[in-house]
Amino acid sequence: MINIAIDGPVGAGKSTIARECARRLGYIYVDTGALYRAIGLYCIENDSQPTASLSQISLSLDIAGGVQRVWLNGRDVSGDIRTPGASMMASAVSAVPEVRAFLLDLQRSLARKNDCIMDGRDIGTVILPDADVKIFLTAKPEIRARRRFDELTAKGQNVIFADVLAELNQRDYNDSHRTFAPLKQAEDAVLLDTSALDFAGSVAAVIAIINQKRQ
Ligand code: C5P
Repeated sequence: MINIAIDGPVGAGKSTIARECARRLGYIYVDTGALYRAIGLYCIENDSQPTASLSQISLSLDIAGGVQRVWLNGRDVSGDIRTPGASMMASAVSAVPEVRAFLLDLQRSLARKNDCIMDGRDIGTVILPDADVKIFLTAKPEIRARRRFDELTAKGQNVIFADVLAELNQRDYNDSHRTFAPLKQAEDAVLLDTSALDFAGSVAAVIAIINQKRQ
């Protein structure tokens, strides 16, 4: 199986770029952030602590027509996990080692069974250390916040740019300073800064890295 790992900070465009690259290459796209978000959502809805909640949680992903859906205890939570509250809670629960351990097998087994592009924070460093290609995708914080703001606004969410930027900086700080599996570039990852690239340019750059690495 071919496994491509894409890691990077909030709003670097990982999911939209990875989804399009996967479609073109005929691979599945796995958005691992959705798993942490689903656990965060469970904790919000049940007012519970992550470690104590894990035994109550059954999670699965399915991909139909290139669209990934996340199921939490049999309920499709793909939309409900995309709020700023669920984002912050995802970042909080993701620092808990038991949560990371709980999600490890699910991620690895998807990669074992499918040609895939998997995105997250620790895919190249922890989940798939032997991935065929590793890319660390980033962009300047203001540019990432602008993209995230536009994405949320387009979905009809009423958000303020300054709040989006502050939330993004806070999540990046949490994600890169946690003890377990912090966000960092794997030593053998290719760094791609998309600050000056539009969507088409970013997709082309990622495909070029994949093709070059796989030669
Ligand atoms: O990628 P996304 O923004 O959906 O991820 C939500 C949160 O889940 C991140 O801020 C991060 O804390 C956590 N996460 C992680 N490891 C991953 C994917 C996401 O810790 N592989």
